[in-house]
Amino acid sequence: MTERTFSIIKPDATRRNLTGKVNAVIEDAGLRIVAQRRIRMSDTQAKKFYEVHAARPFYGELVEFMTSAPVVVQVLEGDNAVARYREVMGATNPADAAAGTIRKLYAESVGENSVHGSDSAENAALEIAQFFTEADIVG
Ligand code: ATP
Ligand code: MG
Repeated sequence: MTERTFSIIKPDATRRNLTGKVNAVIEDAGLRIVAQRRIRMSDTQAKKFYEVHAARPFYGELVEFMTSAPVVVQVLEGDNAVARYREVMGATNPADAAAGTIRKLYAESVGENSVHGSDSAENAALEIAQFFTEADIVG
């Protein structure tokens, strides 16, 4: 089933010039980058995006990190894209991530872990809508 997921290449990765290397892993996994934009996330955008984690002790640090340098927001399309991209990203903590995953290859820590990917098709649609309109997505 072809579906879409939302991805963010996070500040730790853009800072180290890893956008192309991350995109190579995404494309090699069979996912198509159908929309992509480099932005500086505002405090308001980051707070809204990570609203579900507002009660967590790392929320402030997470918002500060996500606004600390440019990010690349993306829409990925492919067969079972949500689950497939979660596999390609690897575990949240790079220490637990499987070999060959983006986080194993590039992440620096559980907080500065290089990429975000939606955790459900429903959240993917909401997250995509926060950053893109349908006209931005060219499949
Ligand atoms: P993401 O939502 O970014 O794709 P995830 O679904 O693997 O990652 P979540 O549990 O949703 O992980 O956490 C969201 C983000 O919050 C993580 O990617 C990470 O940047 C940060 N985070 C999670 N746990 C911690 C922690 N213990 N300390 C610091 N930051 C954390
Ligand atoms: Mg998550």
